[in-house]
Formats: sequence, structure tokens, C-alpha cells
Amino acid sequence: MEQQYDVIIIGAGPAGLTAGIYAARAGLATLLIERYGDGGQILNTYEVDNYPGLPQITGGELGSRMSEHLNRFDVTRLMAGVERIDFSEGAHRVITDEGTFIGRTIVLATGNSPKKLGIPGEEELAGAGVSYCATCDGAFFKKRTVAVIGGGDVAVEDAIYLARGCEKVWLVHRRDELRAAKILQKALFELPNVEVVWDSIPKEIVAAESGMVGGLKIENVRSNDTSVLEVSGVFIATGNDPNSSYADGIRKDEKGYIIADESCATSVSGVFAAGDIRAKRLRQVTTAVADGANAIYSVQEYLI
Ligand code: NAP
Repeated sequence: MEQQYDVIIIGAGPAGLTAGIYAARAGLATLLIERYGDGGQILNTYEVDNYPGLPQITGGELGSRMSEHLNRFDVTRLMAGVERIDFSEGAHRVITDEGTFIGRTIVLATGNSPKKLGIPGEEELAGAGVSYCATCDGAFFKKRTVAVIGGGDVAVEDAIYLARGCEKVWLVHRRDELRAAKILQKALFELPNVEVVWDSIPKEIVAAESGMVGGLKIENVRSNDTSVLEVSGVFIATGNDPNSSYADGIRKDEKGYIIADESCATSVSGVFAAGDIRAKRLRQVTTAVADGANAIYSVQEYLI
């Protein structure tokens, strides 16, 4: 027989782990399903400097601490990929590759994943010099020259991180102004081995004879001139796409983010969205953990 829970939380990033802590403390029979491991996107961040009380903590350490915190409580854990959910009031069926589970309520906290550029060479050279995670792969590029693509917080943080070990870092951005927080920009501009290539878009990632990345072809959007940066690695940091494809039947915005207000209630009764998967203005660890708490508060109200 399929097991039933008061709440099934899907995703173990900051939002899901916080939801787990709040659900357990509220005495709810809780199942937390995660596909890869605890921590979510913060594992891709070298340093988190804006989580109050824990300045300059590494993403890995913050993820571990949240995970250990949840492990103090009685929450059932399952490592599985969710394939789809059959929504039906009071008994939503979560179908995973490890079986089907019933939740009186569901908290969707599956966050998002790095966006692909869709240029030639990107797919072919993934893992051969093309990366979406500087903190995971940066160590392979010690004393080499790399390019980072993007102008947001992640791209600038990645460039700063990579500059510690790489000989040179090109930051390729499509405009003449970065989107990243000013404090990150200041740190970036102080680095002697980082150079920003403004107004330029990537056109192709070129292979060297070795079969690994050898260059990045870029185009200046003002002059239409093309050039090739000789690099051994290309780090793509151009934003994210929501991991919401398994949740069909729920109202989403045009990008696929789940529409819910601060209560985290979605268009389906008894289903809540927390963290980066929710359509919202600001995606940070602080806003994700706030959602996790709000979602469980709403779950409790709903169950009563
Ligand atoms: P983001 O803020 O959406 O920035 C994406 C960057 O990539 C933008 O600069 C964008 O250019 C560029 N871009 C997008 N599509 C492109 C394309 N096809 N070709 C070339 N460039 C492209 O994404 P993010 O940096 O991954 O950050 C995601 C969220 O996490 C943000 O809300 C961010 O604030 C948050 N975050 C916060 C922190 C922190 O507070 N410490 C750390 C990491 C992330 P335009 O600027 O021209 O649009």
C-alpha cells in the first residue's frame, strides 16, 4: 500500500530543508524527497556573505549545516527523482522512480538549474572544458586561462573565485554594465588577472586538437566584429531555468516559475511552492528559507 504523509517536501535546498525543520517541529508526518543530495544551488557557491549571522561561510558548509540541523528531527528521507504528481484534493500522489507516495499536502522546493546557451560546441564540450559550476570544476583550470559568461551575481562570483587559481579570467558580458551587486563588482574590478569583455555575446565554443575546449568565439554586439579568446575553460553563468516540469497542472509564469504569493499557496489546493521555484523578485538563501517557513505555516493552516 502507498504510504501517506501529512506533507511531502520535494527538494532539499535551503527552502526544502527549512520546510523540513518546520514540519518536523510542528509534528507533521513528513517525507522529504531529494534527487541528488542536500544543499541545492548553494553548493555551487564558493562563499555566501549575506546570510545573517554566518558571514563568509562557504556554500558547502552552509548546506551541510542546514542538512545536519534537519537530521536532528524525525523526517523520512527518500533519494529519488519525482516524475510527476497526480493532484487530487487531500491525497496528492507523488510518482517517483522509487515508488509512489501520498501527501495530504505537498511543498514544491525543487529550485532551478543553470540555463544552457544553445551555441555550437556547448553540448559537445560539456565536461571537456565547458562547465556550469566554477566551485565544482575550477580546480581543473589552475594556472590556465578561462572565460566566464554572464554579468549577474553568479558570473561575477565565479570570476572572482576562478581568479584565485587561474592565470587569467575573461568575463564576457553582453552589455556595458554588470547586473551583479556593487560589492561584488568592486571586488572584481580590483583583480589584476580579470578582464571584462563588454558588449559581447558568445557565438561558439571551439575545440582544441586535444578534443578539449581551446577557444571561445565572441561577437561584439555594437561593431559585429568577431574574435576568438584562447581559453581552456568556459564557465556559463547566464541565469537559471526552474525545475518545475514534473508539476504539470499548476499555474506557472511564462518562464515556468510557479505562481504563489508569500503564503506559498499555488493554484492547486494543498500544494505550496517555496524557494527559487516560486515566481518572485529576489532569489537568495534568505528568501528561500523564509519561503520554507511560510509554506509549512500554510500547510498547518490547510490541514487544520
Ligand atoms: P541573473 O541575475 O539572471 O544574471 C544572468 C546574467 O547572464 C545577466 O547578466 C544576463 O545579462 C546574462 N545572460 C542571460 N542570458 C544570456 C545569454 N543568452 N547570453 C549572454 N548573457 C546572458 O542570474 P544569476 O547570476 O545566475 O543569479 C540568479 C539569482 O541568484 C539572482 O537573483 C541573483 O541575485 C541570485 N544570487 C545571489 C547571490 C548573492 O546574493 N550572494 C549569489 C548568487 C546568486 P543581462 O544583465 O544583460 O540580462
